[in-house]
Amino acid sequence: MSAPALARIPVMIPWLGAEEAQAAADAVLSGWVAQGPRVAAFEAAFAERVGAGHGIAVSSCTTALHLALVALDLGPGDEVIVPSLSFIATANAVRYVGAEPVFAEVDLTTGNVTAATVDAVRTERTRAVIAVHQGGVPADVHSLRDRCAGWGLALVEDAACAIGSTVGGSSVGRGALLAAWSFHPRKVVTTGEGGMITTDDAQWAQRLRRLREHGMNASAAQRHAATTPVLESYLEVGFNYRMTDIQAAVGLVQLGKLDEMVARRRALAARYDALLRDVPGLRPVRDPAHGRSNFQSYWVLLAEDFPVGRDEVLAALSAAGVSARRGIMAAHLEPAYAGHPHIPLPVTERISRDSLILPVFHTMTEEQQDRVVAVLREQAAP
Ligand SMILES: *Cc1c(COP(=O)(O)O)cnc(C)c1O
Repeated sequence: MSAPALARIPVMIPWLGAEEAQAAADAVLSGWVAQGPRVAAFEAAFAERVGAGHGIAVSSCTTALHLALVALDLGPGDEVIVPSLSFIATANAVRYVGAEPVFAEVDLTTGNVTAATVDAVRTERTRAVIAVHQGGVPADVHSLRDRCAGWGLALVEDAACAIGSTVGGSSVGRGALLAAWSFHPRKVVTTGEGGMITTDDAQWAQRLRRLREHGMNASAAQRHAATTPVLESYLEVGFNYRMTDIQAAVGLVQLGKLDEMVARRRALAARYDALLRDVPGLRPVRDPAHGRSNFQSYWVLLAEDFPVGRDEVLAALSAAGVSARRGIMAAHLEPAYAGHPHIPLPVTERISRDSLILPVFHTMTEEQQDRVVAVLREQAAP
């Protein structure tokens, strides 16, 4: 008799429930489903949570990054420094405006760019830097902001993974020139798909609101609410990057659960950390000295002399009913960037090749976590 099969452990499940379902239903029943009052309320709540002056909701973090670069007036001939070690959207956004992504190396412990790795690829054509808070691990933005200001470069923060992470005790994104956020289900707060730009600059905020809505000087919501006809005009070529009120309704509920979500993820990360301490050849991601992670991704780096390769570890986990993931991708290794010039990126390649992301989700049980650890322990000492 074989033992009953244990349910598969996913790498992530969004923590959604009846409250989000009700909020979405209320939005539908209100008759206002496109960008409207719920998007405005979500923007205000999100900006307040981050400590930013303005929030501009958009359709994804990818479109948020695109608009941030449009707002900076970047285009052909300009270079933007980005980590290759990131989801490919970070580099692609630079291409959308016709500028050149220049890949910077990352720090081995955080997976993030630093002032030194940015400095190493700076040229006279560099106009901006996109720093990623990779997997929720905050980049050292205080030193990056100082140095970028000194170099005359704009610093955009790709905070797709990092809602709930902190730097020096404040939310990631606080004080950022422009920060971009994601509400994809693989991130911590989700609206299905969705994104946000935060900024303290009122003029940029106004232009970003226009750019996400076809370049119109009066939003559809404003025109609808007006008692006298408003004749809109189109001030520049914009985009349709709007979020819907159905998504924003879900986002408002999710935001209210953020502290609980982050506390749970941090508790699971701490427990992994304790359980993996005596497993040789594994180095888990940890909080950097300058801040705290929300552990959107809990990754472990295999030592160079680990007895088996990363893909074998993934296969062993999969055979045991555990869905883990390869570590963060490296954009410069993808066909989309074949032939794109770059400096040697050994640390990026090492992290991308030798790391894996372990399951962490709100409803994960200790028994499930023990199952994951048992496989890793077996692989470390076969
Ligand atoms: C997920 C992710 C994105 C893209 O977010 P979407 O909302 O899916 O467009 C961009 N940058 C990073 C670092 C990400 O992890």
